[in-house]
Amino acid sequence: MNQKLEDIKQNVIECTECDLCKTRTNSVPGKGNFHSEVIFVGEAPGRNEDKSGEPFIGIAGKKLSEALEGAGITREEVYITNIVKCRPPNNRVPTAIERETCQDYLKEEISIIKPKIICILGNTAFNTLLGGSEITKFRGKLVQKNKQMYFLTVHPAATIYNQELIKVLKKDIVKLFDLVEELKNKKKVKIDIEYTT
Ligand code: SF4
Repeated sequence: MNQKLEDIKQNVIECTECDLCKTRTNSVPGKGNFHSEVIFVGEAPGRNEDKSGEPFIGIAGKKLSEALEGAGITREEVYITNIVKCRPPNNRVPTAIERETCQDYLKEEISIIKPKIICILGNTAFNTLLGGSEITKFRGKLVQKNKQMYFLTVHPAATIYNQELIKVLKKDIVKLFDLVEELKNKKKVKIDIEYTT
């Protein structure tokens, strides 16, 4: 692993900056390939992640792996992280204060990895990173803000009991890696939404 990412991981493990440290079992730092062209950003660790200290290892994680495999990509090839690195009690949505307190870790992960595209998984990441809501309306779209590209899709947890949504997630992930390929080949890609501020 990259030493700077290793330092962030250590800081996350020891972090007591917000109240989520009081109820967590383990903090859950981001994990994966630091050469990845894509960073996947979810909401927060769940029960299994809290127990193990690893992101996306529960059922939602399996759904994400399934969607990646559908695009010919393995988990090891990409980097996966969350908006907050500690589990909120009963999997509630992290508060604005918790998200704000934790945001520097994600900013650092992004500045080290420099992904071509940040893949936003679900409403909490959409709201935190781009101020958006109703991800199901905007999913499948490529967004540009401050010279960074973002791709929007549903959270894998939302697909667990919804067969239609797993199809949607799989389709989006194929599109995401098609876009990555085009960017790697220096092709111009169509930006669906551009933030001007
Ligand atoms: S959620 Fe983030 S800011 Fe809060 S204790 Fe965990 S690592 Fe620290």
